[in-house]
Amino acid sequence: MLDCAIIGGGPAGLTAGLYATRGGLKNVTMFEMGMPGGQITQSSEIENYPGFYEHGKTGMDFMDTWQEQCFAFGLKHEMKKIERVAKIGEHFKVTFENGESVEAMTVIVCTGSTPKRTGIKGESELWGKGVSTCATCDGFFYKGKSVAVLGGGDTALEEAHYLSNICVEVNLIHRRDEFRASPSTVDRVKRTENINIITDTIIEEIEGDAMGVTGLKLKNKKTGKASNLEVPGIFIFAGHDVNNAVLKDENDEFICKMNEWGQVVVDLSMKTSISGLFAAGDMRIEAPKQVVVAAGDGATAALQVISYIQEQA
Ligand code: FAD
Ligand code: NAP
Repeated sequence: MLDCAIIGGGPAGLTAGLYATRGGLKNVTMFEMGMPGGQITQSSEIENYPGFYEHGKTGMDFMDTWQEQCFAFGLKHEMKKIERVAKIGEHFKVTFENGESVEAMTVIVCTGSTPKRTGIKGESELWGKGVSTCATCDGFFYKGKSVAVLGGGDTALEEAHYLSNICVEVNLIHRRDEFRASPSTVDRVKRTENINIITDTIIEEIEGDAMGVTGLKLKNKKTGKASNLEVPGIFIFAGHDVNNAVLKDENDEFICKMNEWGQVVVDLSMKTSISGLFAAGDMRIEAPKQVVVAAGDGATAALQVISYIQEQA
């Protein structure tokens, strides 16, 4: 029986593993279906993690520096995709994709979330080279420049407003003339002078060269009129898929409390509604979706796991 099964090997999972093993737990395995590191390994540059401030270093370089330390105290890694977590009596059964399973006293789920892609021409090719899904991460790279934002939801409008404090102009492009975002957020965006709202408009292509994004080909859906917008960056906020499938039972029901957007409800200790089950990082409610926060969540969850196991003994 594992003391703790950690599912997902991004910043939250790796940090949980470091804290759990350094805190004295002997039998801790992190199940990560790929190489450890998580979604930050897709980033071309990271400059908002304190203590790591080297220009030109990629997310991959950054996560490389985590590996040796996080595994130094006995954390084990198995490259396995987890299908399901179930609580059976006092313990958990963690089932792998191939049907085999392992038992664990506690589980920390850190499977993250995935920004939705739109499929617009050029999006994949220029992903991370001017196409971003994170204004907090990449907004500063466009300080004093003009950028574009796609989307009409709360995230797009809130992030457009955030970018308006950094960029000279924010072109908010939405495919309809009505926004999903809450009326107060729409109102705030409309009152912001340097946000240029472009509605009923689709982005037909994101154009770029070896250096990254250079502009957008736009088309107004009502008039059919085509236009070009020269921008070095576009932020896409088409929603997120929370990677929460491991928390569903055979009947497709979640085993713990979730919010309406499929994020795991946790308290400030990263406890879920099921005792012994914790969730950390981008998949939890109100996650700011930042590495520094995911790492903090992982540490918090691991410290709680240690207390929980001590209480059970
Ligand atoms: P993730 O990093 O998403 O890790 C989850 C892990 O779980 C993945 O490795 C996945 O393979 C694994 N997994 C999922 N399902 C299963 C399963 N069923 N079984 C086994 N393993 C599974 N943040 C910043 O602070 N600064 C930045 O500059 C920054 N830039 C970014 C740039 C890009 C392009 C992207 C995409 C994100 C960026 N972020 C940045 C956000 C940051 O990457 C995330 O907030 C952070 O990685 C979340 O960590 P996490 O551990 O919660 O989840
Ligand atoms: P969302 O509400 O699903 O909005 C996604 C937006 O992207 C929509 O406007 C959608 O257009 C657009 N879109 C999707 N696919 C597209 C495509 N292929 N091409 C062009 N546009 C596309 O996602 P979200 O903004 O991330 O919000 C998710 C949930 O979190 C929402 O329920 C939201 O209220 C909530 N949230 C709340 C807060 C807050 O309360 N402060 C903050 C952030 C998020 P259409 O509108 O035409 O479909």
